[in-house]
Amino acid sequence: MALRRFGIDQCASCGGVLSSGYYTLLDRDERYCPACIATRPRCASCGAPLGDQHWSLHDGRRQCAVCHATAVYDPALARQIFDETVAGIVAQFELTLNVGVAFRMVDAPTLDAIRGDGGVPPPPGQHTLGLYQRRGHLRTIYMLYGLPRLIFRTTVAHEYAHAWQGERCPLLHSEGLREGFAEWVAYHHLQWLGCSRAAQRMLTMPHPYRPWLDQVLELERKLGQAGVIEYLKRAE
Ligand SMILES: [Zn+2]
Ligand SMILES: [Zn+2]
Ligand SMILES: [Zn+2]
Repeated sequence: MALRRFGIDQCASCGGVLSSGYYTLLDRDERYCPACIATRPRCASCGAPLGDQHWSLHDGRRQCAVCHATAVYDPALARQIFDETVAGIVAQFELTLNVGVAFRMVDAPTLDAIRGDGGVPPPPGQHTLGLYQRRGHLRTIYMLYGLPRLIFRTTVAHEYAHAWQGERCPLLHSEGLREGFAEWVAYHHLQWLGCSRAAQRMLTMPHPYRPWLDQVLELERKLGQAGVIEYLKRAE
């Protein structure tokens, strides 16, 4: 189905003329009327007010047409993007694993149940999009079903960094360094893909992990990329 596009003077949700001002979301070009911002349910992936054209997932999430257009629903495609992401990070940083990590795509209630079962809670105001978990010998990255492709990829990069930390950084307990480094890997992976706008967004959008990302970027200015990785291996 083709995406319906509204003009610049129309609300992207209801199509009404924007006669009394409009809102935009932080990282998007679409404009929304005040009524839609106030009353419409929001897209589970991007937070945009939903228009008449939207998609309902089996676990209750609803997704806007823009997010749906690139959403990863097919497990085989998910696996392929996962493998491409890992290969890219290994090529860029040589962050290799000895034991390796399994991959599974799951729906929202399943991911919540796994997280509740000894996992790390998401930062305030954020949904869990992906999760790395070690259970005895089993190491697994769980990814949320139906994410837009670029969010999926960024989240895989972040969680893969945690898998690498699990193997190579035995002493690392600082949450700031753990999450800041995972964001740093995701940030550089976006740059590596040529998605500089999405990477730039990580430096400008408010996010609970952003101060920690800034700290690791500061570390990179002093030590270089290889220096950051060596620093992590010995960090506590
Ligand atoms: Zn509207
Ligand atoms: Zn959306
Ligand atoms: Zn994390």
